[in-house]
Amino acid sequence: MNEKYAELRTRLAEVEDLRRAAHLLEWDQETMMPPLGVSSRAEQLASLGRIAHERFTASEIGRLLDELASFEGEMAYDSDEASLIRVVRRDYEKARKVPPELHGERARAASIAQPVWAEARKRSDFSLFLPYLQKNIDLTHRYVECMDDGRDIYDVLLDDYEQDLTTVEVNAVFDELKRELPPLIEAAAASNGEEDAFMRGPFSPDAQHEFSLQVIRGFGFDPEGWRLDRSVHPFASSAGPNDIRLTSRYAEDDLHSLFSAMHECGHGLYENGVDLALDRTPLCEGVSYAFHESQSRMWENLVGRSRPFWRHFYPRLQQAFPALAQVDEEAFYRAVNRVQPSLIRVDADEVTYNLHVILRFELEQEMLTGKLALADVPEAWDARMKEYLGIDVPDARRGALQDVHWSGGSFGYFSTYSLGNVVSVQLWEKVREAMPDLDDQIEAGEFRELREWLRENVHRHGRKFAPKELLDRIVGGPIDPGPYLRYLKDKLSDTAGVGAVA
Ligand code: ZN
Repeated sequence: MNEKYAELRTRLAEVEDLRRAAHLLEWDQETMMPPLGVSSRAEQLASLGRIAHERFTASEIGRLLDELASFEGEMAYDSDEASLIRVVRRDYEKARKVPPELHGERARAASIAQPVWAEARKRSDFSLFLPYLQKNIDLTHRYVECMDDGRDIYDVLLDDYEQDLTTVEVNAVFDELKRELPPLIEAAAASNGEEDAFMRGPFSPDAQHEFSLQVIRGFGFDPEGWRLDRSVHPFASSAGPNDIRLTSRYAEDDLHSLFSAMHECGHGLYENGVDLALDRTPLCEGVSYAFHESQSRMWENLVGRSRPFWRHFYPRLQQAFPALAQVDEEAFYRAVNRVQPSLIRVDADEVTYNLHVILRFELEQEMLTGKLALADVPEAWDARMKEYLGIDVPDARRGALQDVHWSGGSFGYFSTYSLGNVVSVQLWEKVREAMPDLDDQIEAGEFRELREWLRENVHRHGRKFAPKELLDRIVGGPIDPGPYLRYLKDKLSDTAGVGAVA
């Protein structure tokens, strides 16, 4: 191996180890840590974050990247070597533009704002959160100024989640969703009867845990390399490709845990599926937030809310939960696909979900450009909920204070949720072309071939290619809402009898 390249990999491996140790501390904080551990944990995470940042932005890394330029040129574009040098150079140049003080200040402001936001949400008092939101917005402006490359502010922020994606491109996708979804939602909601009482359980939490495990074991959860634990908010994390940590939460009166376990398993399969040749490098993770979300949404919705899936699992579900003993499969299938405008994004159905996201995407831009005064955010939020989903927001807790993202200074993140939905179906169409008997396999509870297709085409590459390159390699084009809209129309004509919508 080229000596300089070997040295680069050694240095990057150390940075990666530090980052993974931080992931593990974060996982522990959400699942195991006693509450009083929080202050020492914050210090540990700050130290690890600072050391990892220092090591990664060290001038030795820059020197090695310079010295490796000709080696990179000799290697094929899609080789591991050229890809690693190319991607690390981009990461390095970006990270070097941000002074360590600002890096630290943003992290500190976020950790201070988080409990204030939680309290403000509890009391439904936006004014309590306002000064902290202002601080996060100010720091975000300072961050964008560091990039100093003439791009619009929101384009700079999007790039942190979805490399090279522009606001104009997102708008093109979202404009189409905003045009097409409201008539679908209206027609579907009009066909709804009373909400089905059987969906309120009771469902034993232990049985939910066991059933979730049964399902995701079929997807690829391997007890030798994965865990499923409990936390307040479900998430997926990893301390290495063969150490995948999922979490879930259980409520007696709904089955959300089951869909969230499938969702988090989709994230886990992505991290688990990266080529081991890329292990302990910055390429050993999912390529972008939208791509990651495309994987979780695929397992949760395209698989987990499909007819063949429930053909297989419904009799088993009835055995696990006596509350469903008298409920037929068709009624259950319709209930888990029910479309109904509601207040809370994370509980929203597959269709209305996107309008929750678009609302946030629009408000964020107006907040950052000053078009919308921060004090007026709750009012603007409520007005847009009325306009997009036709519902009245009773209080800020269920309105502008419901999401954690702004307290963490994460502006630019939200759009990736809906883009993930869009990408998931672009990929799904390719899966269907490659696997004509996909429905039969799902109905037989067989997911290996689907998982292997995703591993071969998506997961194994890690971050070798930019998200746009990866999508183009797989589907032969850019992000396109067409397949997703077709899928939703087919779904709604099946579950809600919506047929007359153009
Ligand atoms: Zn997700």
